[in-house]
Amino acid sequence: NAQAKSYSFQAEVAQLLHLVTHSLYSNPEIFLRELISNASDACDKLRFEGINNGALYENDPDLHVRISLDKDNKTITISDNGIGLTESEAIDNLGTIAKSGTKDFMSKLTGDQKNDAQLIGQFGVGFYSGFIVADKITVESRKAGEPASNGVRWISGGTGDFDVEQITKESRGTDIILHLRDDAVEYLEAWKVKQIVNKYSDHISLPIQMRKEVWQEAEEGADAENAEGKMVLTDEWETINSASALWTRNKKDISDEQYTEFYKQFSHDFEAPLAWSHNRVEGSTEYTQLLYIPAKAPHDLFTREQKSGIKLYVKRVFIMDEAENLMPSYLRFVKGIIDSADLPLNVSRELLQESKDVRTIREGNARRVLSLLDSLAKSEDKEQQDKFATFYKEFGAVLKEGLGEDFGNKDKIAKLLRFASTNTDDVTVSFADYKANMKEGQDAIYYLTAESLAAAKNSPQLELFKKKGIEVLLMTDRVDEWALNFLTDFDGTPLQSVAKGAVDLGKLQDEEEKKAAETAAETLKPTLDKLTDSLKDKAKEVRVTTRLVDSPACLVVGDQDLSPQLVRMLKQAGQ
Ligand code: ADP
Ligand code: MG
Repeated sequence: NAQAKSYSFQAEVAQLLHLVTHSLYSNPEIFLRELISNASDACDKLRFEGINNGALYENDPDLHVRISLDKDNKTITISDNGIGLTESEAIDNLGTIAKSGTKDFMSKLTGDQKNDAQLIGQFGVGFYSGFIVADKITVESRKAGEPASNGVRWISGGTGDFDVEQITKESRGTDIILHLRDDAVEYLEAWKVKQIVNKYSDHISLPIQMRKEVWQEAEEGADAENAEGKMVLTDEWETINSASALWTRNKKDISDEQYTEFYKQFSHDFEAPLAWSHNRVEGSTEYTQLLYIPAKAPHDLFTREQKSGIKLYVKRVFIMDEAENLMPSYLRFVKGIIDSADLPLNVSRELLQESKDVRTIREGNARRVLSLLDSLAKSEDKEQQDKFATFYKEFGAVLKEGLGEDFGNKDKIAKLLRFASTNTDDVTVSFADYKANMKEGQDAIYYLTAESLAAAKNSPQLELFKKKGIEVLLMTDRVDEWALNFLTDFDGTPLQSVAKGAVDLGKLQDEEEKKAAETAAETLKPTLDKLTDSLKDKAKEVRVTTRLVDSPACLVVGDQDLSPQLVRMLKQAGQ
């Protein structure tokens, strides 16, 4: 055997470990969830690579996770026969922080011990969660397809460094051996472990197994201590979870808690989702969809790199994360799982772009999310309404992109939009509400876009509308101007920007006002001509208007022109 070599943890890992081992834990049992999740990932990876290389299964095709408890040595071991780790993978993957979820977690740390400990409890910090309950972790692994002599042992006490040596390991996969702290020995009780697995990992599609226990009666003439019989371990392994992927189960067999737990685990979100939709879609393209609306927008929602939150499975085999073609970009906040019955197992990202099935799935997903949102929006239930309000606050601006992106669902999207108006500062007015509140004779939905609500409310463009008591929708999202270009009407009523062209209030305008304006236009013609001439590089036309009440003048743009808002936006974007 080669000599063990010592390595130092990446600085961030050392920092994280310090926190893990020196904080209080609001929820220590999550270590098991994290380690089982890694074991399950390792089996997924083997299954995926095994599609093209069956030899990787060796003679051990039934993938599983096994948990062994050793009371004498105070260890709990989580073993899998998944893909395994080579020596260099163990050094790289267990010594650095690679996953974005953990980085995210680190960025949320406040320095306040109690607060941070709670974060760990809700979120987990992957493999390092083991150090919540262990003062030493031994990892023994052998990569699928490698000879037994190419095994690796990795040992660390969770401080600054870890040791690595080459070992011989017959069985494929990874054993994580936790040497429990004295205050964590409760996890040596089988019932306790089963309870935790049941709570956090029941949805894992892999069998999670423990040694079967049987009751042994006391022997005849036994001493007092053994007079009552006892539980003894057998050699038999017993599966302790449901071992079917959550989304493959019948809806009515899944509790809200299970849906929520599953969401938190696969999405790395520590807040519960607002809502979800779970369906088996049949027809020319068959697939199962389980889609969640998160309660909080990620900080990078508006960056171009924002990844899709959809995981793709094909016939239960995990294929890829961030499968961007399965959800339109304006619904990129949705997280979930698609399990297709039709796509080939070796589907690539390139192939996904061209597939007709993928297009069908994407359209089906969009419809499903929009109808889920619609049901929240129109619910009579206060709790559901609040959920919609939360959704809208977090994701409303992204949803609007759909007006331009998803022509077929434009009307459904428009129905979900909410705005502030001259009647309320709250962003709660729908187009339908607006229409219900229109004046007798009013035949357009009036809106104004501006940089802020204050700017909108003080705009001279509104004077006439205020005077006549006509409601105007006030739009202050950057995307509004662009998005509203794609919506010419709502339910047959045209949308009209009050900042564009000559607003014709039609029947709402007094005949007298119109006459007065016409007369003024005539008598003031020389003045107007002079103004038009002297402003000729700055304004196209100067004209008399009836839209102002208090202000002497205001700027408007032509019907066909870009609004000042949009011009500013394009300039900012460097166009
Ligand atoms: P994540 O699971 O999000 O990648 P973790 O901290 O949980 O982050 O795990 C870090 C890495 O360690 C994994 O990405 C994987 O490469 C490796 N690893 C952990 N557990 C196992 C295992 N049981 N089998 C194979 N690799 C593992
Ligand atoms: Mg993990």
